[in-house]
Amino acid sequence: MDKQKRNTKSKQMIMSVLSNASSALCHEEIEGQLPEKMDRVTIYRILQGFCEDGKVHKIIGENGKTYYALCHNCLAGNHNDKHLHFRCLKCKTISCIDEPLTIPKLPSGYSISDVACLITGYCPKCLVQMKTIPVILLLFFVQFNLFAQYQIKVADKETKQAVVDADVYFLDSKTGTTTDETGFFSVNTKNSTILVQISAMGYSTFLGTLMLPNESTVYLEPS
Ligand SMILES: [Zn+2]
Ligand SMILES: [Zn+2]
Ligand SMILES: [Zn+2]
Repeated sequence: MDKQKRNTKSKQMIMSVLSNASSALCHEEIEGQLPEKMDRVTIYRILQGFCEDGKVHKIIGENGKTYYALCHNCLAGNHNDKHLHFRCLKCKTISCIDEPLTIPKLPSGYSISDVACLITGYCPKCLVQMKTIPVILLLFFVQFNLFAQYQIKVADKETKQAVVDADVYFLDSKTGTTTDETGFFSVNTKNSTILVQISAMGYSTFLGTLMLPNESTVYLEPS
């Protein structure tokens, strides 16, 4: 491929990267998105050429880095699409704000050759995320608080053996259950204590407050 043709192809590739971008790109980002490897100097030279031709404009980020974005209706040597740029503090993207920009009247004696104005803040995408995440966390927190489940075991005080099929009655909620074949019963509560009455054949009835989740076993005294 002769030099002229290679140059045209390189220009096309860089132009298509910039056209497909949803925000302004810095040198490394352009280089990273090219379909084939191109040396830095070539990329720099082509971008420089685009800027002079009025196809692309430069934006200097608050980090001092240069970003490139496509121009709309600019002429060679005359960038007439003066607009603001927005830098997102979260995703770090720079976007062109395509709203007409009114430049204030300057005191006499000043002559403008370029306008560089950067607004920082949060882009619409990041704002939505920032609003959604706390809501999700809050929902998790509320659910966790409301529906904590505890497994409590009922056992023989002397043999430490599980007491199967014991009657469990929750005095706060006035509901009841029985222990399973391993001596466990479960309770759903948002409280840190439960008042419970447990009775089983051959044992004295237990009536007391359990501290959750520390007290996970209730011992019944044989009668
Ligand atoms: Zn321009
Ligand atoms: Zn953002
Ligand atoms: Zn722009």
